Amino acid sequence: MGLIEAAFRFCPLCGTALRLRRVEAHELPACPACDFVAFRDPKVVVAMIAHDPAGRVLALRRGIAPARGEWALPGGYVDFDEHPARSAERECWEETGCRVVAERLEGVHHVGLPHAGLIVLAYSGPVLEGIPTTGPEALELGFFAPPALPELAFTSHREVVAAWLAARAGALGPSTLQG
Ligand SMILES: [Zn+2]
Repeated sequence: MGLIEAAFRFCPLCGTALRLRRVEAHELPACPACDFVAFRDPKVVVAMIAHDPAGRVLALRRGIAPARGEWALPGGYVDFDEHPARSAERECWEETGCRVVAERLEGVHHVGLPHAGLIVLAYSGPVLEGIPTTGPEALELGFFAPPALPELAFTSHREVVAAWLAARAGALGPSTLQG
C-alpha cells in the first residue's frame, strides 16, 4: 500500500507529511513528528435474521449500492456510539419497517477485501411488529421459508443463514443427528 492509497497524507494532529512506518505486520502512514499512526481498522457491520413465528426469514432486494437489485438480509454499519445489537434492530427498522429484537448473537464473520476488512456480527430475533414496507433501501421484501429464500448477494449473509439453519437443526435434538 502506498501513501496515495492511504486515508491520510498529512498528520491530522500536527500537519507534518506522513511517512510509511512498519507497525507490527503492516507498513502504515505515520507521523515522523508526533505519535500519530493511520491505523486501518476494520469496519463493523451487522446482519439480522429477523424471523416470524413460522420460522420464515425477512429478506430484501437492495435499493442501494453495493449489490443494488440483489437480495440480502437487513443490516448495515454499526455507529460508533451504538451497541451492535441496537444497530441490527435499527437497520432492520430503517430498511424494512419491521420492529425486531436482536435476541441472539449468532456468529462473527470476517470479510477480507483488498484494502479493507469487515467484521460481520450476525444476530437473530423475532419480528415484534410491522409490515414489510418498500422504500429507498428496499425495492422488494418479504418473509421466506429458508428453502425458498432468494440467493443472497453477500457471501457473509449466505454463511450467516447456513450457520443459523445448522444451529436450529442441532437444537431439534440428537435424534436428528443420528438419523
Ligand atoms: Zn503529527
